[in-house]
Amino acid sequence: MRRPREPWTRSRPRPRLRFSPTAWAKLLFLRDRGPTEVGGFGIAPADDLLYVQDIHVVRQTCTTVFVFFEDSAVAEFFDDQIDAGRRPEQFGRLWIHTHPGESAQPSHVDEETFQRVFGHCDWGVMFILAREGQTYCRLRFRAGPGGAFEIPVQVDFHGNFTGSNFQAWTHEYETTVRQAPFGLAGGGPWGLPSPRLSQLERISRLTIFSTPSNWKGGPISMSDRYERQRDMVPQDRLAGLTATVIGVGAIGRQIALQLADVGVPRLQLIDFDRVETTNITTQGYYQVDIGQLKVAATRRAVEAIDPAIVVETCADRFRPKQSVGDALFCAVDSISARASIWRAVEHRCRCRTDGRMLGETIRVLCAADGVGREHYASTLFLQSEAQAGRCTSRSTIYASAIAAGLMVHQFTLWLRDLPIDGDTTIDLLAGEWAATSTDSHGSSHGVGSASAFSPNSPTQGNGWEHVKS
Ligand SMILES: [Zn+2]
Repeated sequence: MRRPREPWTRSRPRPRLRFSPTAWAKLLFLRDRGPTEVGGFGIAPADDLLYVQDIHVVRQTCTTVFVFFEDSAVAEFFDDQIDAGRRPEQFGRLWIHTHPGESAQPSHVDEETFQRVFGHCDWGVMFILAREGQTYCRLRFRAGPGGAFEIPVQVDFHGNFTGSNFQAWTHEYETTVRQAPFGLAGGGPWGLPSPRLSQLERISRLTIFSTPSNWKGGPISMSDRYERQRDMVPQDRLAGLTATVIGVGAIGRQIALQLADVGVPRLQLIDFDRVETTNITTQGYYQVDIGQLKVAATRRAVEAIDPAIVVETCADRFRPKQSVGDALFCAVDSISARASIWRAVEHRCRCRTDGRMLGETIRVLCAADGVGREHYASTLFLQSEAQAGRCTSRSTIYASAIAAGLMVHQFTLWLRDLPIDGDTTIDLLAGEWAATSTDSHGSSHGVGSASAFSPNSPTQGNGWEHVKS
């Protein structure tokens, strides 16, 4: 009879990944050296396999959202380590990489790589360090029933450690890390999963062949895809940016798709809901999506537009501790949810847009970099505003698409450092459009038809009162 065995039972102390101060300092250096992700292997002593003594960087192609190790470089590194007398578990189990954004959550590419490369090992660790200091660490093992769980991380100051060596680290970085807008590494274990590679190859073929042979890195734009929107959507400002969409119902799904189309490299989708039959017509979901999580269905639609976009999904309500991206799109359907989201993220994201709908009346609020915050907050806590809570009970795909378009437009204004419209209301039925602009001088102006209510009126109390629906 076989006795079930687990190497990491609960009775033992929970494993934790520890870094020597030197290794940690090196990792910070690597993370902050360039605009891309950087990856490497942790090296551990034989008797302490979860202690990262040093980090070795292998030749890799990096983007702001991927790291691809060259398979030949990994093989070389492994050979060298064996020659140096180390065993594979000392140098080939700790996969470490950085994220240039705020979130350390593994992307789906990270997950696939972890599964593909370490799925056959007895165990492996994926560790991610984000720009703002957030970390993520997961141990996966095969023994017994197998499994994976997150483990804590610490810098361990016990014992001997050497000092920093910026010169050597710089050299290591410069000789190994190559920047590219897309990973052009092959389909080996450290490259892209092969089905995705063919799609990527198709998309970036023009870029690859127009790249001069002496090209040594630096961002190149996917000119063929973004040519026609370059003036309106500055791609350089998008690089490294994460956009969060809270609520992927009628408006939120449209936002996610539009953000994918304008070239946002990282998307975070938050929604606990599943697709119902009525969502097919009003929210733009497909027949095959019924019963699926909305975040999963939207992710598939985004990946169909551009498989290189990293989509992080969260099938839950928004929690105050949830990390968010630089730009936040709020598309929830209750004023109380908006208020609690606002309280949590007011000072954490740079551009914040909120869309509300009441039949064929659309209201879009935007607050960026402090400007417009006060006005936005005033729309959340007035009793009269709370009446608008039932606003998505009647909705159409065209009104949602217009609302989403307005929101993404505010986002691109912000990207271009242009004054944003803090408060826009459109009444489709009455043909009225009123916008209040907020800029760094706090001035405002109105646009729209002559019959629209006065430009400043949306800032005075309840915007919905102007609406006869
Ligand atoms: Zn990653």
